[in-house]
Amino acid sequence: MLMNQSQGYGEGASRFSYSYDMLEFRPEWQFDDPDSGVYYHSAVIPGKLFFTSLGGDIPPDAARKAIPHIERVFADRVLVNTDYVRIADYSGVVRASINTRLLYASTLNRLNAEYNCRPVITYICGASQLLKAMLRIFSGIVRQRFVFVDTVEEAFSYVNSSTPKAEPVQSDGVLVSRSEIDDFAATCGHILFENKDLDDADSEYYSPDHPLNELFKVIVVLRNDLQELQDSDRMRRKETEVALEEARQLNDKLVTEKRTVEEKEKIQQGLIENLKNARIEAESANKAKSEFLANISHELRTPLHAVIGMTELLIETKLDKDQRYYSDTLYSSAQMLLMLINDILDFSRIEAGRIDEDKEVFNLRQLLQDIIAIMKEKASCKGLVLAGDIDEHMPSVISGYPGYIKQILLNLIQNAIKFTYRGQVTVTVKVVSETHQDVSLKVAVQDTGIGIPEEQQHLIFNPFTQIDASSTRKEGGTGLGLAIVRKLIAFMGGEIQVTSSERDGSTFSFTLAFDKVEGACDRAEDGDRDGEAEEHQEDVSSSDSEKNRVLLVEDNTINQKVAQAMLLKMGYEIDIAFNGSDAVEALKRKNYGLVLMDLQMPVMDGYEATRTIRQAGSELDSKVPIVAMTANATKEDRQKCMDAGMDDFVAKPVERKVMTAMLHRWLPLSS
Ligand code: ADP
Repeated sequence: MLMNQSQGYGEGASRFSYSYDMLEFRPEWQFDDPDSGVYYHSAVIPGKLFFTSLGGDIPPDAARKAIPHIERVFADRVLVNTDYVRIADYSGVVRASINTRLLYASTLNRLNAEYNCRPVITYICGASQLLKAMLRIFSGIVRQRFVFVDTVEEAFSYVNSSTPKAEPVQSDGVLVSRSEIDDFAATCGHILFENKDLDDADSEYYSPDHPLNELFKVIVVLRNDLQELQDSDRMRRKETEVALEEARQLNDKLVTEKRTVEEKEKIQQGLIENLKNARIEAESANKAKSEFLANISHELRTPLHAVIGMTELLIETKLDKDQRYYSDTLYSSAQMLLMLINDILDFSRIEAGRIDEDKEVFNLRQLLQDIIAIMKEKASCKGLVLAGDIDEHMPSVISGYPGYIKQILLNLIQNAIKFTYRGQVTVTVKVVSETHQDVSLKVAVQDTGIGIPEEQQHLIFNPFTQIDASSTRKEGGTGLGLAIVRKLIAFMGGEIQVTSSERDGSTFSFTLAFDKVEGACDRAEDGDRDGEAEEHQEDVSSSDSEKNRVLLVEDNTINQKVAQAMLLKMGYEIDIAFNGSDAVEALKRKNYGLVLMDLQMPVMDGYEATRTIRQAGSELDSKVPIVAMTANATKEDRQKCMDAGMDDFVAKPVERKVMTAMLHRWLPLSS
């Protein structure tokens, strides 16, 4: 049915009242693109009203996709052979290009023609100024009437009102000719390129009744907005540039600072490195010094020993009173010198880190008794009592460093006797604590002597420090004893303490932990070397009497002379070989009761010579006792000698007493 104009928006309103609720929205008519947010919604009041609602930022592509849905509306024949009212809601449109709009408009034209229908009036809701201007241009092309309203409700109220907002076509629907559009385009060009205030430029181009006047005004407004936008954009760009420049400067500053920090770190690293090197150098210099001292004192002992040995022999000859006085002085001075050299040797050996680190199982009770026995005579010579007070709960057999314990106690007791003129010296050993594995013992040497002033007590452990010069001179001493004692105790994990007063005397004490030895019994009697030696003595006592002959293997002529003099004096015959290979040859020629073997020698050393002799078989007496003479009396050296096949061992320089005892063990003179 064809709706006549008066029905549509005149009396019709009294009979029909259209409303939004009456619209039929079929799902197949609706287009929604969730990706772009574009929508084309269509609805109808069949035969009467066509409602469309568009929205989003619509590119032609999206519009093309929406067209089948619009076609469905017409295909469903709800608007056929009729004039209808159209309401188009553009309030949701963000942007729609000219192509989008043309596509939409031409589709509607095509469909209207196809289904023989026509929109008599179109209410446009929420159109922008530009859209309004454009639609006015297009209205000529599509030959439609457009009425602009703000909202859909407003459109419905116009549709239903008796006086619809129906402006005359001439004033609202604008017809624009091709030449006017060209003219307009030229004007737009002017507007875009001219920099004058466009608000009052309109009068220059179009009179108020010119059809393009309104569009021109819109463009002017847009142009002004654009300019404002460009200005603010320029300003923002400038601000961004300033901020960027600031950021760049800040970054440069940071980079410089980082570099400075890195340089400082490098310098610091260098300093640390230098310090480390300096420390290493200082340590190695100190070690080198100690090595040097150890070596030089070791070298000094050989000639000094010759002095002592020869003096001993000299003293035993017939001397007049003066000669005896001179030789006694010579002897005691040489002894003093030897003591000093021995102390320096010990001290610098410890300093250089040449310390024997293997523990031994030993009988501490026996060791203490031996030490007290050794020192008792010295004490009683001065009218002093030397007493031992040993905890009866102390385990006898323990593991530790007996050599160092002996050295420490001899030193402390010697000092105590030295600096005491009346009263007694007491050695106390107490169990402080005990576990299954170890036992802590506190060892103290107490005297009733001259004491040490409190302010000087911290000095006495320094090397070469002696407090009372007069008494020390009187008593002798090197000033190294306590320094050695302190180092040895520290090596074993303890600390030496001193309490002293000039009235009551001094107490030196230290606490050390020792490992207990499981299942150990008291082996004091059979543990020492004299016992072993006795057995050997029996082995060799059956020797032939021609074996009073000793072969001395030694490359150093001073040592040769000293040993020769001692042995001759004791009644032995002596042959000398200058090295190991000479010795082997000598043994092939003659039988000897004993070989005294130096270790370091040119051509063939003592170890090799011993091995050669032991393997010689019947060529020579391969069972001849061989006794090593070595200056380095460490445990390893001793072990090395035994491994090579030697029987015994004396420390060099060999003292007469030691030599006598050794010969007594191995080669008692057969008459
Ligand atoms: P020295 O060989 O001179 O005894 P030490 O290092 O053993 O060297 O001792 C350093 C100094 O400490 C001694 O010279 C002495 O002054 C003091 N001293 C050591 N022990 C005692 C003691 N028991 N009584 C008093 N003074 C002592």
